[in-house]
Amino acid sequence: MTVRSKLMVGNWKMHGGLADNASLLSEVLNGLEGVNCRAAVCVPAPYLAQVQTLLAGSAVSLGAQDVSAHEAGAYTGEVSATMLRDFSVRYCIVGHSERRQYHGESNDLVATKAQRALAAGITPIVCVGESLAEREAGHTESVVKRQLAAVIHTIGHCVSEIVVAYEPVWAIGTGWTATPEQAQSVHAVLRAQLKAATAHSDRVSILYGGSMNAANAADLLAQPDVDGGLIGSAALKSFEFLTMLKAASC
Ligand code: PEP
Repeated sequence: MTVRSKLMVGNWKMHGGLADNASLLSEVLNGLEGVNCRAAVCVPAPYLAQVQTLLAGSAVSLGAQDVSAHEAGAYTGEVSATMLRDFSVRYCIVGHSERRQYHGESNDLVATKAQRALAAGITPIVCVGESLAEREAGHTESVVKRQLAAVIHTIGHCVSEIVVAYEPVWAIGTGWTATPEQAQSVHAVLRAQLKAATAHSDRVSILYGGSMNAANAADLLAQPDVDGGLIGSAALKSFEFLTMLKAASC
């Protein structure tokens, strides 16, 4: 069995500014002693150049929060995967629930975005997760499997090159976190689905996201199929983010 080092990814969402980014990252980079997990920050597109410079030579990778499903062309406002690659972007979130909810992104569109990222040498972090109503109706498993199945269908054997993030919608930004047992049971479903799709499923990290913070990270990360975290608000505070990076380090 492959042991995947944990991967901790901060999702800054639409937060930040030139001065705030510089001070947050200087505190994070100065606090990395004892951290040996993989780490990344997914920043708003206008700050890619700044953060690329700030992270240069460090152990923290650069990520983006979205990518266009198109290669190039008349798509005003969109950012292509090759443009992200120009800034040494290593990871790109696709299918975050906020994109699905506010921008109507379908499972098929998310799958195409994942394909575009992979084609540019960027690892897509594919978000899946159920709403509260879907959980209460007992549909969690079918929802997340359908979301992941669209990606598997589109990218085929390349699925071993993605990262999956299980983010229950009811836990994102709400302060309600899935219990470690709830997270593990969905991660195990996703792991089995990946195993059926590729012989190299053990390469795929499955992150948990949804109000993960310094107080609950260690218990979530202790679950056998929780390979790291996708962290929103707690990644905007250097001490809290560093505490989680340390919890994910062995
Ligand atoms: C996220 O934005 O992916 C997220 C999990 O946010 P939060 O940690 O704030 O719930």
